[in-house]
Amino acid sequence: MAMLLDGKATAAAWRLELKGRVERWRETTGQTPGLAVVLVGDDPASAVYVRNKAKAAAEAGIRSTVVELRPEAGRADLLGHLDRLAADPAVHGILVQLPLPPGYDPVEAQERVPPAKDVDGLHPLNQGLLALGRPRFIPATPLGILELLKRYAIPIAGARAVILGRSAIVGQPLATLLGGKGRDATVTLAHSRTRDLGSLARSADLLVAAIGRAQYVGRDLVRPGATVIDVGVNRIAGDPQSGNRGRLVGDVDFAAVEPIAGAISPVPGGVGPMTIAALVHNTVVAAEASEAAKSVAGTRGAGAGSWS
Ligand code: NAP
Repeated sequence: MAMLLDGKATAAAWRLELKGRVERWRETTGQTPGLAVVLVGDDPASAVYVRNKAKAAAEAGIRSTVVELRPEAGRADLLGHLDRLAADPAVHGILVQLPLPPGYDPVEAQERVPPAKDVDGLHPLNQGLLALGRPRFIPATPLGILELLKRYAIPIAGARAVILGRSAIVGQPLATLLGGKGRDATVTLAHSRTRDLGSLARSADLLVAAIGRAQYVGRDLVRPGATVIDVGVNRIAGDPQSGNRGRLVGDVDFAAVEPIAGAISPVPGGVGPMTIAALVHNTVVAAEASEAAKSVAGTRGAGAGSWS
């Protein structure tokens, strides 16, 4: 039987620590960290994610606001809101909920968020810093996974890690982070064109599934004793006539894999809550950094004054 990597409990403990950090920051600066989440369109899943993020931030003592735009609001309206939030000193973190409806360019929106407020870590500059091994903000899902592994003392250095799925928000940054100096895993990033995925996955000490296919990873893809991280969130259809709304499952067939894995994260209650706690973490980091940047600017100002 595998050790359960309980993301729900771990995230709750992490958020409590962050709440303490927010209180200390408020005592020293007299300010409250601010997070703005921008939601465009009426995708019900996105609306739930945004609500959960805003609630978790508020519980940690962060002032959170949600900017909701109709799907037809248009590019200029979205960019206008982002510019307003960028200029607002009470907003320390800005997040554009993805996916955006058709007709919007997510990269353009991401670029409009100032890098210092980009708590999703998706601004090209922040992606570049991460690739250079000097991340400012680690995107929330990879950060949540790293924290989960750390808090359960799962060894990473020297491990063979296989990541299924190469998205810009999960697979790619996680591959960079796990394989970077200091974490030192040997990483293979697999995707839909990968040959012989089975033997590759079975070679992994650490297997991360982020492909968006319900219960795709069965026992045949897992080496006994491996750590399995399930990122996927998939709804299995229910039966509306009997009032059964279906249920959420991951990319891993939990019942089949759990008996042979060494450790496994469940869905729900695994990576999802850790992702939300990671966003809270990034917002606290953004607020703290904004104050540090102000005092550096102040010191420079004072120095310049004394020379004149
Ligand atoms: P994505 O953009 O949906 O892309 C899926 C990736 O999986 C692609 O790289 C694709 O390969 C690869 N893939 C698809 N089928 C595959 C297969 N049979 N074998 C190997 N690779 C395959 O990825 P995402 O946005 O990272 O989302 C993945 C899942 O994670 C979704 O279920 C999403 O809802 C979930 N998610 C959860 C959280 C959370 O907080 N819990 C956060 C983010 C995402 P190609 O590149 O070749 O197309």
